[in-house]
Amino acid sequence: MKELLKLENVRKYFPVKGGNVLKAVDDVSFVVHEAEVFGLVGESGCGKSTLGKLILKLIETTGGRIIFDGLDVTNATRQELSKIRRGLQIIFQDPLASLNPRMRILDAIGEALVVNNIVRRKEVKDSVADLLEKVGLNTDSLYKYPHEFSGGQRQRICIARALAVKPKMIVADEPLSALDVSIQAQIINLLDDLQKDSGLAFVFISHNLPAIEHFSDKVAVMYLGKIVEMSGTAELFKGPMHPYTEALLSAVPKPEFGEKVERIILEGDVPSPIHIPPGCPFHPRCPKRFGLCDKEIPAFSEVEKNRWVSCHLW
Ligand code: SF4
Repeated sequence: MKELLKLENVRKYFPVKGGNVLKAVDDVSFVVHEAEVFGLVGESGCGKSTLGKLILKLIETTGGRIIFDGLDVTNATRQELSKIRRGLQIIFQDPLASLNPRMRILDAIGEALVVNNIVRRKEVKDSVADLLEKVGLNTDSLYKYPHEFSGGQRQRICIARALAVKPKMIVADEPLSALDVSIQAQIINLLDDLQKDSGLAFVFISHNLPAIEHFSDKVAVMYLGKIVEMSGTAELFKGPMHPYTEALLSAVPKPEFGEKVERIILEGDVPSPIHIPPGCPFHPRCPKRFGLCDKEIPAFSEVEKNRWVSCHLW
C-alpha cells in the first residue's frame, strides 16, 4: 500500500528557564500507509500529543521532516498547508472546547463544506444531515448548539466535521479520554466502522491500551519523547519486547478466563524531559536493567521483521 504519512527524525525541543531544553519529541521516525491505523501509546507527558500537533503543523518542528501525501509539511507554504489540512484532519480530546458554542451544528459543519468548496450552498443542509447520519445522529441535531449534546454526541459531531472535507487521514488525539467508559466503546466502534467503510488512515493517539489493541494495525510505544517499541498490533500485544511495554501491558486486566498476567509495578515516576537520564532513558525504572543500561543509549533497531525496539537486551 502507498505511503501516506512519513516522519523522519522529527524533533520538538522547547527552551526552558536556566538555558535548559525540554525534549518533548526526540528523533521520531515512522510511516503510515493508506487505510492504515497507527496507534501511538504512552503515559501522559510522553510527547504523543505534541507529535500529533507537529503532524498537523499546529506547532513547528525543531528538526526532521514530515511528509504527507507527497507534500513536505515541515516547509509547507500557506497554499500547500491548506491542501494538506484538507487531506489531514484532527479530532481533539475535548469535543466541547473544539466546537464554537455560538454556532449551530449545521453552521459548524456546513462552514467546512463551503470554505473547502465541497458542496454548493444550497446543498449544505442535506450534506450535513448525511454526515450526521454517518456518525449516528439524527437531523434534529442540525439546529442545536454544542451545549445541548452529551460528551459522546459532541465527539460524534467533531468526527462528522472532520469527515466533511473527505480527508485521507485523521489524527485522533485522545478522542476517548473525556468520555464515560460506556461511551468510549461506542466511539471506538464508530471510528472502526468509518475506517472500514471509507478506507481512512488514522494516527490514533491514546493511553487506552484496549482501544489501541482493538483499533490499530501498528503500534508505537513512546517514552520520554522517543519511540521505544514499534510493531504490528497483534505481535506487540502477544509478546512485548521492551520492558516498558511489558509493564504497560501488565496493567491491563485480561478478561479471558484463567489468564493471569503478573502486574509489573515500575519504580518511581517518569523523569522530567528536561533532565533525561543518561544511557537508556528508561533505566532508573527498568526492572531488567544491567551494567550497560545507564552508560549507553540503546539503538532503535529492527530486531525481527517489522519489529523495532530500543533496548540492550535485543
Ligand atoms: Fe531496561 Fe536496559 Fe533495556 Fe533500557 S536498555 S529497557 S534499562 S534492559
